[in-house]
Amino acid sequence: MKFIGIVGSSHSGARGYAIIKEIINNNKNCTFVSGGAEGVDTVARIVCNNNNVPFIEMKPDGIGWEYYKTRNLRIAEKCDKVYSLVMPLTKQNCYHCEKVGKNSNHEKSGGCYTGKACGNYEVIILDSHMNAKREIFVFGSNLAGRHGAGAALAARQNHGAVYGQGIGLQGNSYAIPTKDENLGVLPLDRIQLYIDEFIQFAHEHPEMEFNVTKIGCGLAGYTPDQIRPFFELAMENMLQDNSFANVNLPIEFGTTVLH
Ligand SMILES: [Zn+2]
Repeated sequence: MKFIGIVGSSHSGARGYAIIKEIINNNKNCTFVSGGAEGVDTVARIVCNNNNVPFIEMKPDGIGWEYYKTRNLRIAEKCDKVYSLVMPLTKQNCYHCEKVGKNSNHEKSGGCYTGKACGNYEVIILDSHMNAKREIFVFGSNLAGRHGAGAALAARQNHGAVYGQGIGLQGNSYAIPTKDENLGVLPLDRIQLYIDEFIQFAHEHPEMEFNVTKIGCGLAGYTPDQIRPFFELAMENMLQDNSFANVNLPIEFGTTVLH
């Protein structure tokens, strides 16, 4: 079993999701490792979870470069290869890459430090911030807005979900209710209405990119086969060509854009 690190910028860029998907496709039967930060690390976690790929998150024990450095060295030691996803050069070229005689014509990144320590690394330059869409984490919620477990808890801890708000956009997350105010599971036709609303919202917000988790299939207890058709139908109704460039579905719901 090989371990592959996916690390780098705290912004994932407009094509970050697609690039990480490609890395996963090019490295079959591997376990992926990342550092639990914003940007590339977060998107790596979402892409791996959405595609049922083994994933290890190595978070730092504290805040500050000393902690990050220790975390980076742990990742480097664990991995057979590291992909460092970096921003194009704006201010400071990458002295980590310069030191090992690699092309340093990109923004400096702790990801390259990790790669250098691993000894086997590849640098991939992401699209710039300018083109980056705002990334939205889409999770299953209850109408009481108690984001206490599973993806909802992750939404509250990492993506700005607001306790007490059960529906819609909040911070960089979007809640699709799958349970009612009393935490009873909603019937499928109600969930379908909320999925329709979400797809409508995504359609009206091309400046955002939505990373959908397996809503309804965790604590609510439905199967992917019960939920998937609602996404397909909603998207079909919205667009003739059935391409929704800004909605990334988990593999169980059918990946409509990225293959
Ligand atoms: Zn570099």
